[in-house]
Amino acid sequence: MDVQQNISLKSFNTFGIDVKARRFVDITSFNELKDVIRSEKLFFILGGGSNLLLTKDIDELVIHLNTKGIDIVQETSNNIFIKVQAGENWHEFVLWCIENNYGGVENLSLIPGNIGTAPIQNIGAYGVELKDSMHSLEALEIDTLNTKTFTNKNCEFGYRNSVFKNELRRKFIITSVTFKLTKNTHKLNSSYGAIQSELDKGNIINPTIKDISNAVIAIRQSKLPDPKEIGNSGSFFKNPIISTTDFKNLQKTYPDAPHYIVSKNEIKVPAGWLVEQCGFKGKRFGDAGVHKKQALVLVNHGQATGEEIWNLAQKIQKTVLEKFEIQLDAEVNII
Ligand SMILES: Cc1cc2nc3c(=O)[nH]c(=O)nc-3n(C[C@H](O)[C@H](O)[C@H](O)COP(=O)(O)OP(=O)(O)OC[C@H]3O[C@@H](n4cnc5c(N)ncnc54)[C@H](O)[C@@H]3O)c2cc1C
Repeated sequence: MDVQQNISLKSFNTFGIDVKARRFVDITSFNELKDVIRSEKLFFILGGGSNLLLTKDIDELVIHLNTKGIDIVQETSNNIFIKVQAGENWHEFVLWCIENNYGGVENLSLIPGNIGTAPIQNIGAYGVELKDSMHSLEALEIDTLNTKTFTNKNCEFGYRNSVFKNELRRKFIITSVTFKLTKNTHKLNSSYGAIQSELDKGNIINPTIKDISNAVIAIRQSKLPDPKEIGNSGSFFKNPIISTTDFKNLQKTYPDAPHYIVSKNEIKVPAGWLVEQCGFKGKRFGDAGVHKKQALVLVNHGQATGEEIWNLAQKIQKTVLEKFEIQLDAEVNII
């Protein structure tokens, strides 16, 4: 195992923040991971770095989890069970599924990050979440070095949430995820957002999973900034869920407030709309800014520090709270 010293993490986080790891190790096998955890008490697990805001140098050993492998473990007449190692790239896995005509993850095309991180916040987009196709996962318990299998139910998935963000936060390292995908009869989901109009544009009447994936990719590319061009971590805040009563009060002042009904008593309000209403869209404070097309995305125009971006995020939270009495929570992990 090659432990490197004083490594810049700039190319390891999509915000492009230039902080250093005092010690850094690239891990490519489960046994290496176990060995390193056995000997190190303080460490930080790094996946694709697409859900992080690094505000300072990291003193703990940075473990870059880079384990690879995609294996078919079981097949039935219409389902296939595929076990994927934590260090595989999410989008490359989605493309592999589409190439092989395995359905279930096509709406989650082009989400950055790694397989092992995807269950932590139950990644989701365009009406589909990871939980809809995840069968189970394996995770290494940090204290005991035992491997535990979690069923989909055990993961306690919610909106951008799971047990790994709550009771089991920092207690387990997810080492592989097994998906249950469809082989022939796919359950397509084209009802969300602009997918249908994107399909209409191409006169596609009977879409395949590849058509859905292409539509999602086209929409995402037109809306979201590419981290290769401008540093960002996708949606910075979660969409807040408020009570129906609070939403009715909000509608008195903002009758056109966009919203999604979550349940009889809960309404989800787009965080980007709240940020935009507070006048932050496209604003820039030094090199820290809010994207000009998507107010939910904070960006690094070049040399912003993590602290500058975090200061801007807190300023937005405070303004939204004062104006709407709604607390915005960060979706991104602040380190
Ligand atoms: C342009 C852009 C668009 C995005 N769009 C979406 C979207 O549509 N939907 C969505 O849900 N998300 C979206 N995201 C967020 C991001 O892609 C996901 O949260 C992704 O799952 C993060 O994976 P990662 O490997 O990059 O995590 P990292 O940023 O490397 O890590 C995130 C956290 O998880 C911990 N961690 C990493 N790997 C493991 C592991 N194996 N076990 C335990 N802990 C671990 C890390 O210590 C860290 O605290 C977007 C991000 C960007 C930059």
